[in-house]
Amino acid sequence: SAKVIDGKACAKKIREEIAAEISRMKEAIGVVPGLAVILVGSRKDSQTYVRNKQKACEGVGITSHEVRLPEDCSEEEVLNHISCFNDDPSVHGILVQLPLPRHMNEERILNAVSIEKDIDGFHPLNIGRLAMQGREPLFVPCTPKGCMELLHRHGVEISGKRAVVIGRSNIVGMPASLLLHIVHSYTRNPEEITREADIVISAVGVANLVRGSWIKPGAVVIDVGINPVDDPESPRGYRLVGDVCYEEASQVASAITPVPGGVGPMTIAMLLSNTLDSAKRIHRFK
Ligand code: NAD
Repeated sequence: SAKVIDGKACAKKIREEIAAEISRMKEAIGVVPGLAVILVGSRKDSQTYVRNKQKACEGVGITSHEVRLPEDCSEEEVLNHISCFNDDPSVHGILVQLPLPRHMNEERILNAVSIEKDIDGFHPLNIGRLAMQGREPLFVPCTPKGCMELLHRHGVEISGKRAVVIGRSNIVGMPASLLLHIVHSYTRNPEEITREADIVISAVGVANLVRGSWIKPGAVVIDVGINPVDDPESPRGYRLVGDVCYEEASQVASAITPVPGGVGPMTIAMLLSNTLDSAKRIHRFK
């Protein structure tokens, strides 16, 4: 049965490395990284994500700045806050929590974040650079970066391998496919295609879509999906599962990430890592 890729433990180790690096920076140049978060509206899930990110910042010594705006605020107000954070030397990373309310133009807002402070890697210029050979983006989006880091830290060689990414959202699937240098294709027989892959990354949002029969024996499986399913035995009435049927796939794969405890904690660790990298770049700290 497959080796479990423990994202929780891996993320903890990365957070410790980041904390040590931040103390070194503070001692040497008296600067700590700062992360600004802009949250618009009152979605419960967004509030939870923002709280978790801020707690993680505190844990490693990153200062967090927060702006909360009501659902009905104007796009201009959001743009004004972004502009202030762009100019604020104590802020090295700016995160606009998505999704934004429907009346706002997401592209215009993401475009306004300085690419030097775009720690989510969602600015069109950073995404564009990710797609081009030889033009390094300043930041890589946190979830796909976390997937790659999990593969790297578990000794999974990527070069020469065939990889399949299921799902093509702008924030996970598409950048993950760019990081793997594969051609994205839409296909009628995902099962057959997936079975050819040595590495499978799934970011779809459908519980148990990927069955054991989709997995090539010995493949490495990274499951990004976080999907609630009814569970009367759980106190909340539901539990979270991935896109991959874990019980089946873990019998076939050589290594697999669990949900929860796989990619999720890595996403936050990569956010901290991007914020630290940004502060180091801005202050030319090696
Ligand atoms: P999304 O809805 O924006 O994108 C889903 C993609 O899957 C789309 O490209 C869609 O075309 C494709 N898709 C849908 N049904 C499909 C099917 N049956 N077969 C093949 N492709 C299909 O979602 P997203 O934001 O990319 O998130 C995907 C999942 O990952 C969700 O469960 C989300 O909660 C989770 N997620 C986890 C993290 C993390 O940190 N672990 C971060 C972001 C998203």
